[in-house]
Amino acid sequence: MSNTPTPLPPAANFIKNIVEADLAAGKHAQRRWAGQPGTAADHAAAPLDPAKIRTRFPPEPNGYLHFGHAKSILLNFGLAKQFGGRCHLRFDDTNPEKEEQEYVDSIIDAVHWLGCSWENEGETNLYQASNYFNWMAQFAEYLISAGHAYVDSQSAEEMRANRGTLTQPGKDSPFRKRSIEENADLFKRMQAGEFPDGAHILRARIDMASPNINLRDPAIYRIRHATHHNTGDKWCIYPMYTFAHPIEDALENITHSICTLEFEDQRPFYDWLLERLAEGGLLQRPLPQQIEFSRLNLTYIVLSKRKLIQLVQENHVSGWDDPRMPTLVGARRRGYSPDGFKLFMDRIGVTKNDSLIDYVLFEDAMREVMNESDERRVAVLDPLKLIIDNYPEGQFEDCAVTNHPLHPELGTRIMPFGRELWIEGEDFQELPEKGFRRLFPGNKARLKYGYIVECTGCDKDENGKVIAVHCTYLPDTKSGTPGADSVKVKGNLHWVSAAHAYPAEVRLYDRLFSVPAPGGRREGNAPELERNFLDDLNPASKTVITAMLEPSLKDAQPEQRFQFERHGYFAADRVDSKPGAPVFNRAVTLKDSWGTKGN
Ligand code: ATP
Ligand code: MG
Repeated sequence: MSNTPTPLPPAANFIKNIVEADLAAGKHAQRRWAGQPGTAADHAAAPLDPAKIRTRFPPEPNGYLHFGHAKSILLNFGLAKQFGGRCHLRFDDTNPEKEEQEYVDSIIDAVHWLGCSWENEGETNLYQASNYFNWMAQFAEYLISAGHAYVDSQSAEEMRANRGTLTQPGKDSPFRKRSIEENADLFKRMQAGEFPDGAHILRARIDMASPNINLRDPAIYRIRHATHHNTGDKWCIYPMYTFAHPIEDALENITHSICTLEFEDQRPFYDWLLERLAEGGLLQRPLPQQIEFSRLNLTYIVLSKRKLIQLVQENHVSGWDDPRMPTLVGARRRGYSPDGFKLFMDRIGVTKNDSLIDYVLFEDAMREVMNESDERRVAVLDPLKLIIDNYPEGQFEDCAVTNHPLHPELGTRIMPFGRELWIEGEDFQELPEKGFRRLFPGNKARLKYGYIVECTGCDKDENGKVIAVHCTYLPDTKSGTPGADSVKVKGNLHWVSAAHAYPAEVRLYDRLFSVPAPGGRREGNAPELERNFLDDLNPASKTVITAMLEPSLKDAQPEQRFQFERHGYFAADRVDSKPGAPVFNRAVTLKDSWGTKGN
């Protein structure tokens, strides 16, 4: 894959087309649903499934969700919603070692935050794969009894050596011809804890010469003397992921099992396994269909769990929820909008082509949503004092300010105006550049929502740095009064009253990496990097400033977000804000300053 960002693909969603065709053909119409996951026998006696389709999001609770997971969540829950179906949240917790409650909780929060729900018309489709261990073991016993599985006692090295390669077929294990009785007995004793880890393994009996290595008698159950967070010490054998996952889907009546492309080679085994179990009368037909799509890759971020862990553990960021992290907890804290995620995912579509999406598309979707939803406020990020010499000291007056130019129904608020204001440092130039229209000696400009002022000069400190700007105001020119247009000016600037301003900590976040492909290579297909991805960290990804905000912002609630006029979209930090003293994070600037669009 090249490092050049791919242009915006058409928003095709081939999976939607598959679902539409299946519905038109009535493919799943006769499925029954026992109200909870179950075998063919459990479902057979039940009414027809009220869900037109069933999809699922099956995270392993071993880490925090990232932007890639958001694609999978929005796709699966979105399809279910669109087509009168249900989407299940299933914790794929079949691996005893790695799961933690902290991750379970954060996954639940993230799915809710994205606006998705597994509660639907009386159904609560929240599941744990470890609750299916009994069924999985029974199904393994069935496979043994039907001659489709055997206990292999080769060492791990022997198994690896006999597996063959992409160009060479594998070799049959000397244990492959074990009798059904012997296999059944050994599997019972594996379950009973008679053997140490690794002594035996249960394998499907398929074809050691298959061109698809995944069909060369894949392992389905291994011995692992480990305590599981849900089942405790009940089991000392655990199913392999490739065995467990199709069974979980089938027990839950999943119709469309959507996963990323790296599972494509596993599909033949997925189908083989479910066919064998359906033949044996254990699973209801039609069986779930696995459909693969290409994973989300974005420029300027990394999405591999290993790299994200490294960023946290080596303190390159403040934690999983650092607003620069491409995790969903990070996105939420930064102030990104769940609707922005939806718009972005709709725009990029769902395909089988590996592509690298330009981060600008993500930011543009955020801007578009926030422009519509966010009220405007005034903030001065680089404060410089403006003194209106002909405005009476101690006098203040109200200026009416619109909350949202696109939504007059959101009304107006009041900003106090007085003799001393804070303006943006860049809005004054003693010796103006060509084309500069704001304040310079002799020039007139409008203080937005207030008066027209004429700049008269400035004060400097001993180093020649400008510390205050002076001006006089034109009393008849207040915005919204009949005289407002009597004087024409070209410059317009924002301000806050110095006597009323709220000095707040504001964090200006920028991209965490300064190059489109951190490490020089995309993850996924090419794991080896050209250089350490940490060398590409953007040293200026976080700047903390004290800004002067309009007084109403003191009351902002955690996570409340606004457009700060001229500056971008800012959200009150959900961790560090105190009542009456919010801290703000910049989610995204008003315009793209990276100039990467269309590359
Ligand atoms: P990672 O590869 O980052 O470690 P994972 O695949 O191990 O993530 P899981 O908990 O297994 O994490 O993933 C849950 C679901 O999210 C899976 O269906 C997986 O295919 C999907 N998913 C993971 N990463 C992406 C991505 N970049 N784009 C789209 N879907 C993804
Ligand atoms: Mg995975």
